Amino acid sequence: MSVNPRFAWMNGRIVAWPEATIHVRTDAVMYGANVFEGIRGYLSADGKQVFVFRLNEHLDRLFNTSMRILRMTTTVTAETLAKGILDLTRANEFWCDVHIRPTMYFGAGEPWSFDPAKIEVLSSITAVPMPPHPRLELGIQVSVSSWRRIQDTSMPPRVKAGANYLQSRYVAMEATLDGYDSAIILNETGKVAEGPAACFMMLRGGRVFTPPITAGILESITRLTLIQLISERLHVEVVEREIDRTEVYLAEEAFFCGTAQEIVPIVGIDRYPVGGGRVGQFVRALQRVYFDVARGSEPAYSAWLTPIYGPPASEPHNEERT
Ligand code: PMP
Repeated sequence: MSVNPRFAWMNGRIVAWPEATIHVRTDAVMYGANVFEGIRGYLSADGKQVFVFRLNEHLDRLFNTSMRILRMTTTVTAETLAKGILDLTRANEFWCDVHIRPTMYFGAGEPWSFDPAKIEVLSSITAVPMPPHPRLELGIQVSVSSWRRIQDTSMPPRVKAGANYLQSRYVAMEATLDGYDSAIILNETGKVAEGPAACFMMLRGGRVFTPPITAGILESITRLTLIQLISERLHVEVVEREIDRTEVYLAEEAFFCGTAQEIVPIVGIDRYPVGGGRVGQFVRALQRVYFDVARGSEPAYSAWLTPIYGPPASEPHNEERT
């Protein structure tokens, strides 16, 4: 059973966890009118630090993509949220991997008004312990969903809005009831878009293929991270281009990637085994590189890491480590 953290952050203040509440009549609750980020913090390899992974890139997407497109304005700045994230994680004394979620909500508006300047914007941050994804080792079986990806002309996928996740829910429910772990979602043109809360990549003929950011995907930070690491560390070319449904059946290796899902190997698609139905060498090597970077063992990428404690790093509380 999971135990709630002691503190959350609401509208600029650290508050006790039960006080982090929002009214049922807000647009956030009624219509899913919120935008958010999912960020991971990793315990360093030596256990003496917790690093927030790509904090600036996440806050940049929150403010300069999601809030911008929804015309959400507030006096809360990215710097305020960055400080809030570090303060909150420290206050909770986390010495473990954590998942951090800053969220901006539309509160209650005036009746009949959709002028975004007149609707209050509320903000929160929560952080909870989160171990690595449970299927990193074994991989997952996926289907190709019968649902189509939401598209830019109606419900823009590059906005990380709470309401968009109803689609992930439809997809994941169908996949689960059909006996799969997850699913690949095609866009309205029938090309591969992404998975529920993750981007898709596949290895074929010595190159990695992934759909472009115009395919109906979130502009994923993990996707960009891996494009760079695959080329710089594994010396494999990454090609961003459309992918057909039947191409994924021919993949030698395939995986979902995202902040929470990290790098989850896909070992079967619509019951076609991927690479013989076992996790392949390429995905394994990529996982190693990714976690070395995220846990601070690769100094060349230390600019991606924001330390929570120190300097100097304070000593871990052993009894609170997970
Ligand atoms: N696509 C969707 C729909 C997502 O929700 C996520 C998770 N945020 C991703 C891709 C991966 O994005 P990121 O690497 O920025 O976490």
